[in-house]
Amino acid sequence: MKLEKDIIIVATRNKGKVMEFSHAFEPFGKKVVSMFDYPDLPDVIEDGETFFENAFKKAKTIGDAIGLPVLADDSGLCVEALNGQPGVYSARYAGEHGADQDNNLKLLAELEKQRLGEDTEQPLLSPAQFVCVLVLYDPVTGQHIEARGTVDGWITSQPSGNKGFGYDPLFYLPHLEKTMADLTMDEKQAISHRGHALRQLAEKLQQ
Ligand code: IMP
Repeated sequence: MKLEKDIIIVATRNKGKVMEFSHAFEPFGKKVVSMFDYPDLPDVIEDGETFFENAFKKAKTIGDAIGLPVLADDSGLCVEALNGQPGVYSARYAGEHGADQDNNLKLLAELEKQRLGEDTEQPLLSPAQFVCVLVLYDPVTGQHIEARGTVDGWITSQPSGNKGFGYDPLFYLPHLEKTMADLTMDEKQAISHRGHALRQLAEKLQQ
């Protein structure tokens, strides 16, 4: 697939994702262009049942509109005690325009409901997994490349950290004894779902 030399177009209006992609592509001399640079393009309705369906729809819709290869990220948090929810609904868990903080409060409330009556002060509420599916779509050839990454952790009732975005302050990594929001961008990229997916994408592009 032939990509633009100096830029990579990412189909997102999520500031946290834009920052992480900018950081990841900077060493390769590529500037991230996001949907903030295309204010006239409408939002893509994310009505798929899987991360892949949503990522593919975003990459194809925006790629076809712009006429250049586009990268899309669909990601979310799957919580074991909630049967994998919020999953593909992570961005709008507390409502269509739910802010990160509302989503986090709803997640904690749902998990606290589950352990009503349990006699425990344990801060770790449930195992959880962040999932990221990336799709790079080329509107000229109609080809796409898919990459995927996950990271396992626990949801903690004691939020910590002010870096990252979304559910990061609630996502505890036992081996680091930190939440995702305590990590620098480099540290997060080394272990995160998005970091793993980006490395898989880079490998596939070289093949
Ligand atoms: P979407 O991919 O635009 O549907 O939104 C993904 C949602 O999942 C975000 O709005 C966050 O709530 C959550 N999410 C995805 N990746 C991360 C992450 O790296 N940290 C924290 N939350 C994330």
